[in-house]
Amino acid sequence: MRLRDKIAVITGAGNGIGEASSLLFAKEGAKVLAVDRDEKSVQDTVRQIRDVGGTAEVCLADISKDGDCRSMIAHAERAFGGLHILFNNAGIMHSEDSDAIHTSEDIFDLTLRINVKSILLGCKYGIPAMKKSGGGSIINTASFVARLGAATPQIAYTASKGAVLAMTRELAVVHAQEGIRVNALSPGPLRTDLLMDFLNTEEKRRRRLVHVPMGRFGEASEMAYGALYLASDESSYTTGTDFLVDGGITAAYVTPE
Ligand code: NAD
Repeated sequence: MRLRDKIAVITGAGNGIGEASSLLFAKEGAKVLAVDRDEKSVQDTVRQIRDVGGTAEVCLADISKDGDCRSMIAHAERAFGGLHILFNNAGIMHSEDSDAIHTSEDIFDLTLRINVKSILLGCKYGIPAMKKSGGGSIINTASFVARLGAATPQIAYTASKGAVLAMTRELAVVHAQEGIRVNALSPGPLRTDLLMDFLNTEEKRRRRLVHVPMGRFGEASEMAYGALYLASDESSYTTGTDFLVDGGITAAYVTPE
């Protein structure tokens, strides 16, 4: 087992990447605190883990709130005795997020509060807990749009993921000597609710797929395997990276010299 006896906090565990990663991490021996603000879906994730003999608990939290993030980390320490893996994964893509002319200040602020401030808050409480546990691995979910921008405009989301990458690099450098590794996982376009709800017409979906060399959307389970590598000791010399799992979309945008 690749995560035997590790204690993991995974946000956005009710759906998509967070759900797939919770199931995989538990299968690989981790004790998982499954965090989400949607009670029904996160309970379902924990039920699936327990049904096959894994260890997991539900934690209801809004990761844009300081008090919720503090309680989430305290919950992991209380329930499992420490923290080794913090997967800051939950995020939103708002249907009213658009170009600079049409995106309201409210949507911009909301998106940054959930997608960016949550990284600060997760780390604010997670890093001290991880230090007490002898070190660990933090994974922040960014996106290919941080490098390329989006084909259907979403200026707030793109800004938020750029910030996630920048924060990841700084966190990695600052905490490298403490045995804490910090990496970004940058998915390509996925067939999860988040993107399918945003690309809500066939035309928008086709426009996105034109640029993906593999010609298909990725699956949440394919991101979970990437996250598993970053979470495990197999990536012990990897920190500060932007780990792209993107079906080749980023490579396709690079112009040959
Ligand atoms: P998803 O919508 O399938 O799942 C996200 C989960 O996060 C949901 O269960 C939701 O309830 C939860 N969540 C949202 N806001 C929350 C909050 N404030 N507090 C607690 N929980 C909250 O999304 P997904 O596709 O699995 O995306 C996960 C991450 O991957 C996000 O950060 C997203 O930006 C990123 N990402 C997704 C894609 C894609 O194409 N789907 C591509 C690149 C990056």
